[in-house]
Amino acid sequence: DAPHARAARAVTPSALAPNYHPLPVVLATGEGSWVTDVHGRRYLDCLAGYSALNFGHRHPALVAAAKAQLGKITLTSRAFEHELLEPFARAVTELTGTEMLLPMNTGAEAVETAVKAARKWGYDVKGVPDEAATIVVTEGAFHGRTTTVVSMSEDPQMRDGFGPYTPGFRIVPYGDADAVAAAIDETTVAVLVEPVQGESGVIVPPADYLPRLRELCSATDVLLVLDEVQSGLGRTGTTLAQDLAGVRADLTTLGKALGGGILPVSAVVGRRDVLEVFSAGTHGSTFGGNSLACAVGLAVVDLLAPGDLQARAGALGVVLRERVEVLVARGLLAGARTVGLWAGLDVEPALGLSGYQTCQRLAARGILVKETHGTTIRLSPPLNIAEADLHLALDTLTDVLHEEAV
Ligand code: PMP
Repeated sequence: DAPHARAARAVTPSALAPNYHPLPVVLATGEGSWVTDVHGRRYLDCLAGYSALNFGHRHPALVAAAKAQLGKITLTSRAFEHELLEPFARAVTELTGTEMLLPMNTGAEAVETAVKAARKWGYDVKGVPDEAATIVVTEGAFHGRTTTVVSMSEDPQMRDGFGPYTPGFRIVPYGDADAVAAAIDETTVAVLVEPVQGESGVIVPPADYLPRLRELCSATDVLLVLDEVQSGLGRTGTTLAQDLAGVRADLTTLGKALGGGILPVSAVVGRRDVLEVFSAGTHGSTFGGNSLACAVGLAVVDLLAPGDLQARAGALGVVLRERVEVLVARGLLAGARTVGLWAGLDVEPALGLSGYQTCQRLAARGILVKETHGTTIRLSPPLNIAEADLHLALDTLTDVLHEEAV
């Protein structure tokens, strides 16, 4: 395909979708849950930008907010204040039941910022010496690609060759609160986990995991940091994934859907006394909290504030769960994990179909999803997907798997 070949000369392989298990699609337009490629073929987007497109492509309210702001001012930099940062911060903290917000741009930046916050808090408040602080993180986690963030990973593909790594991370198995307890000592300033591991294949921890981490952290004066860059903002049928466990983190990272799939907007929200360690001049970003980002972010909060979209994701999530359970019962899936409108599906290995091949066959029939690794595929459609479209995706998946089985 000519566009692929041209792009491969100008863009690093890491930045091109086609190098990593190519699907033969070059997208040109999108509206709601549907996208169209450069040849005019239509596809149902059941990946939704790994949850960045929770409201679908070009949601009219988000496009309108962006357009209106484009006619006013887009960026002041941190040198000058603008009128939208405070309303944006207030809206997001109200939506998430938190006290304060620090604006950033990407998910990885928000996670790095949370790491800095925890270390500075440990230093200022707990008296943990600079250089000594440790943070407990988990195997199989995905928190982004910057140098400090890949230092939190044990995945060779993300890590190898990019050292020296940032020290101070203790990696323990995911979902195992006892392992976290054993890893905490007087140097520990934070436990940083995803409430549901997204990139790993929608790994849902035991129901008592987050409550136990909350208890442990409170008892040992350690910060609980939850990375909700992918799980947050409606995906789980609740505003935050942590709401399902009835837990409030000390710091929460948000990203992806916070920019409505229109532009990168991320944030760290949480306890005022912790985030206030960032005194003037200690942290910042030229684009973090810019006027355009705040305008879109405010419109995102407007979409979520009534709670209907979360409820809808929860209700459609029941449909999703019931349908994939049928596929498990029919022996077409070896396993399925769902939470809200989010599923990690393990294609039955006996079918001899990899996750990638499953995605190829789905794409050929107009459904876009992505494998995560091996035989696992992930579904994270827009939260406002039409119920008939969700059924279309699951009917097509059923056909693709069934044809392989017979
Ligand atoms: N945290 C989590 C949980 C994520 O899923 C991701 C992205 N997949 C990130 C952080 C990194 O976000 P970004 O790609 O915007 O840096």
